[in-house]
Amino acid sequence: MTDQTTTSTTTTSTTTTVGDAHVTVADVPTGLFIGGAWRPASGGATFDVRDPSTGAVLASVADATPEDGIAALDAAVAAQDDWAATAPRRRSDLLRRTFDLVHEHADDIAAVMTLEMGKPLAESRGEVVYGAEFLRWFSEEAVRIGGDYRTNPEGTGRGIVLKRPVGPVYAITPWNFPLAMATRKIAPALAAGCTVVLKPADLTPLTTLYLVELFRQAGLPDGVLNVVPASDAKALSAPVIADRRLRKLTFTGSTPVGSALLKQAADNVLKTSMELGGNAPLLVFDDADLDLAVDAAMQAKFRNVGEACTAANRFFVQEGIADAFTAALSERIDALRIGRGTEDGTDIGPLIDSRAVDKAAGLVDDAVARGARLVSGGQRVDREGTFYAPTLLDDVQPGSDILTTEIFGPVVSITRFATEEEGIRLANDTEYGLVAYAFTEDMRRGQRLAERLETGMLGWNTGVVSNAAFPFGGVKASGLGREGSHEGLEEYLETVYVLTPDPFAA
Ligand code: NAD
Repeated sequence: MTDQTTTSTTTTSTTTTVGDAHVTVADVPTGLFIGGAWRPASGGATFDVRDPSTGAVLASVADATPEDGIAALDAAVAAQDDWAATAPRRRSDLLRRTFDLVHEHADDIAAVMTLEMGKPLAESRGEVVYGAEFLRWFSEEAVRIGGDYRTNPEGTGRGIVLKRPVGPVYAITPWNFPLAMATRKIAPALAAGCTVVLKPADLTPLTTLYLVELFRQAGLPDGVLNVVPASDAKALSAPVIADRRLRKLTFTGSTPVGSALLKQAADNVLKTSMELGGNAPLLVFDDADLDLAVDAAMQAKFRNVGEACTAANRFFVQEGIADAFTAALSERIDALRIGRGTEDGTDIGPLIDSRAVDKAAGLVDDAVARGARLVSGGQRVDREGTFYAPTLLDDVQPGSDILTTEIFGPVVSITRFATEEEGIRLANDTEYGLVAYAFTEDMRRGQRLAERLETGMLGWNTGVVSNAAFPFGGVKASGLGREGSHEGLEEYLETVYVLTPDPFAA
């Protein structure tokens, strides 16, 4: 690992080389990005970013102070009017050029992501493709922001309804999808004509900083996108959220933090989007296609090492198919290869930190103590890094913590049910409502589930719902608002209407 300073005509940027024996990436930015320039934190503090598979320090990143947060907001406010007035085609072109650059640098971005987050390289490459899609999708949406012209019901006047950008945005993202969670916010905000201050998660800031450098190379105007990594998220964020010049708060993360941020946002009646935690049910009915259900369940559970808001958390399997489903799933789980994300053939990387391992272990132990049957895994992995073995629990009993807690780890919890009614009741028995999965070949049952499951999204005979073209988001404690699709753009637009008299009146 080496540190060096690179200077270009527009910025001075501290960069670092991150890597291990398998992959190395040179020139990963480690500064704050404010007003179009890379810079150290005021006071010069840094914090370390570590590889969860070894604990080794990958890089030291500038640690933004509350003053830096306000400086970033100053830059976003200063750029807001010009950016809002920038032709939609130019805003679109910036996103499209960044999309192209992300694809050109896909291997490096994936390597950085795997090193700081731990997931296997193939999955990181998948996130690069997924995350880039938001840049492409919203480059296409940027030029389709419309309005309309209406006649009032009495016929005595005309209304013009128009859309305009809401104004400067503060975006806070989690560590589990460090590219996609950033593009899912930056792309619609920029497309709408909003400027942005982004705070990435302190566990995984490097991927986001790399993305911002690509935005810069694509021609990002100064101040339109500013990034402030920080070790003390609360201290940095509170003054930014309290500042009356901010007009929108968009957050992806846990429900308790989202709820606390909503309270802060209430003071200035900020427009908010909240993508919060999940506790996804996965229902397998007797009439399911077993092979399809097992394949999809593996994706819904083990994608991202189980560290996804969309991860299937509670499996409910109907009695007639339960033995066959459990047997097939445990066979697949036992074949998973545990290793560092950068090693070939790894299916299951480390969890993000030791707290995540303790949490998974605690939930499994509690479920077993309450009568669950341990079919696969069930222990920490004896090697350096923060690994937990892929685990399958069957016959999980009511009252087990695992049924009410977001696991965020590679643990399957199966409860058996008898009737469709019971399956729906069990699935809805949670304060969360982000996504549900259901496996049934019965068309009418699928439609009933779509209407009765309390969820923002339903994967019907599929284990992955994330897609830039569709509205992603939850109900109940899983959040407010949607990301992706044209709904995702609306989150960054205000509706204004203009009433005029009847143009034909004498
Ligand atoms: P987290 O809530 O701990 O942190 C999320 C972000 O908020 C981080 O950047 C963190 O630094 C920041 N933060 C924490 N406390 C803060 C505070 N007091 N003020 C301001 N910012 C603060 O969540 P996490 O552990 O990074 O991510 C995992 C959680 O995110 C899970 O609950 C998961 O379900 C959720 N998530 C949801 C979605 C979705 O789209 N619904 C997507 C990914 C992750």
